[in-house]
Amino acid sequence: MSHPTEDALKPSNFLRAIIERDLEQGSLQGRHFAGTPGDAAHHEAGPLDPAKIRTRFPPEPNGYLHIGHAKSICLNFGLARDYGGICHLRFDDTNPEKEEQEYVDAIKEMVSWLGWKWERADASGHNTSHLFYASNYFDFMYRAAEYLVTAGLAYVDEQTPEAMRANRGDFSTPGTDSPFRSRSPEENLARLREMKNGVHPDGAMVLRAKIDMASPNINLRDPALYRIRRATHHNTGDAWCIYPMYTFAHPIEDALERITHSICTLEFEDQRPFYDWLLGKLAEGGLLAHPLPHQYEFGRLNLSYVVTSKRKLRQLVDEGHVSGWDDPRMPTLAGMRRRGYTPESVRAMVEATGVTKSNAWLDYAVLDGCLRTDLEGKAARACAVLDPLKLKLTNWAELFGSEAHREACSAPAHPHHPEMGLRQFTLGPEVWVEQEDFMEVPVKGYHRLYPGNKARLKYGYVIECSGCEKDAEGKVTAVLARVVPDTKSGTPGADSVKVKGVITWVGAHEAVAAELRLYDRLFTVAQPGTGEADFLTELNPASCKIVTGYLEPSLAQWPAALQVQFERHGYFVSDRVDHQADKPVFNKITGLRDGWGK
Ligand code: ATP
Ligand code: MG
Repeated sequence: MSHPTEDALKPSNFLRAIIERDLEQGSLQGRHFAGTPGDAAHHEAGPLDPAKIRTRFPPEPNGYLHIGHAKSICLNFGLARDYGGICHLRFDDTNPEKEEQEYVDAIKEMVSWLGWKWERADASGHNTSHLFYASNYFDFMYRAAEYLVTAGLAYVDEQTPEAMRANRGDFSTPGTDSPFRSRSPEENLARLREMKNGVHPDGAMVLRAKIDMASPNINLRDPALYRIRRATHHNTGDAWCIYPMYTFAHPIEDALERITHSICTLEFEDQRPFYDWLLGKLAEGGLLAHPLPHQYEFGRLNLSYVVTSKRKLRQLVDEGHVSGWDDPRMPTLAGMRRRGYTPESVRAMVEATGVTKSNAWLDYAVLDGCLRTDLEGKAARACAVLDPLKLKLTNWAELFGSEAHREACSAPAHPHHPEMGLRQFTLGPEVWVEQEDFMEVPVKGYHRLYPGNKARLKYGYVIECSGCEKDAEGKVTAVLARVVPDTKSGTPGADSVKVKGVITWVGAHEAVAAELRLYDRLFTVAQPGTGEADFLTELNPASCKIVTGYLEPSLAQWPAALQVQFERHGYFVSDRVDHQADKPVFNKITGLRDGWGK
């Protein structure tokens, strides 16, 4: 797959302005990059960095990516593409408890699906991968911890978690120094090594930075750096019984990879002073090289009528409220792909939201608009009947000599792309039409089938409705009509009879029965889980309706995971998991117009 280059010209945003300023001032010039992550000495021994900037997308492999992550992915990979840089895909796998290979694989698959590459050919054509795992940096992180202890910048705190919390203070009260804060570096180093060597039980003590317990920024009140946790890590196994805290690990990961612009979401804004403090101290100690990475924050993207917290998404999956991470109603990228959204439409939607300093709630309508824009010119057309009612043409044999006669019909696969060819199908004495295309007693302005009215079977003949058949309960079981001779579409007589209604149909003799999955919003409220109610009580019980519909024969051998426009109904996709040529399953992506809220 190619790197997306076709995206429309980006409007400027504050991140672009920062990067352009840095490039103009040359503040990133002269950086060395050894080709692999490492400390100051490692990079200084390497060549000048050929990448003008380095960004990264750093998912924690503890769940599937969602639409919010798409924003971060497109932003980081897009900036690298636009400014001659490189974007790293880094698995932030420093937490041993929740991470799994399944998620690593799924994340790689979805980043690729969105069209981005973490491999790059260098001048000599050699492919370099920029796929990294933070757990490979555990040795360096521990070395950094020992350095901070030795320099008097960190200490081992043996207070109970409760005491630690109480002594942290709050917004209006400064914190109180721990009784362990004044230990000597030698004592602290001995304790840290004991922590590492498994001398102490889980939770007995933590390593903390020694900054300022009275800082107005609570994140600077001696944040924890390492904790004791006996857990098997998917990469390092049982090599470690202490693990770094996220706030300690993340800046170091950025620095080892020589990231220039570390872009994250707004909730990390208060962490930035610690980010700068930590990297500054490690650079002073000669462990890290200048220029150091800088952190910049932007607003999260949320989608209305769904949730995007991984914890809540996992709950939906684990408790069976949806069929899996890739359920087509899920805002996961796997779910959106299965629903039929294209990478182009997701990228366009992310682009449409811009990059700002506030969190945004976006409506599905925007995504659907992007999908229509993308598919309008690409998707093949076909006829499908979703809510079938039999229509009988009562003068068929009289007109064509036999009930067995078939009239060949055709229609363009795409109205504006003749090169996509023609769809062939046939008309016979019985066809499927939509229930809503017949009214025994028409309402005002109704132009479709009612007794005495004429309408056109699209790509076929004008017909005149003569009545209907009913069952014992009075329910309509078939509509009756007569073919008006010499009115076939595409023949000279086609316009001899003027009609206002056009009916889509599928010949009953050749219709392909298909399972059609019609999706609605997953939740009934725009911002689920943000009010008093448990988000599960806000699930839409009618978010998936399954019907059997009839498709025209051109869809008989339709491949899986290919989008199509069902004329008048909207965009559908053959389900990538369940669809089979002889047992078709189609998902509705969205209607032809914005139908939400109706
Ligand atoms: P969640 O809160 O859903 O668990 P997370 O932030 O913990 O998500 P990570 O795997 O840590 O998930 O995220 C990887 C990157 O994606 C981070 O840089 C994060 O800031 C970014 N990201 C996550 N959610 C969003 C969002 N809704 N909008 C924009 N960026 C996001
Ligand atoms: Mg996170």
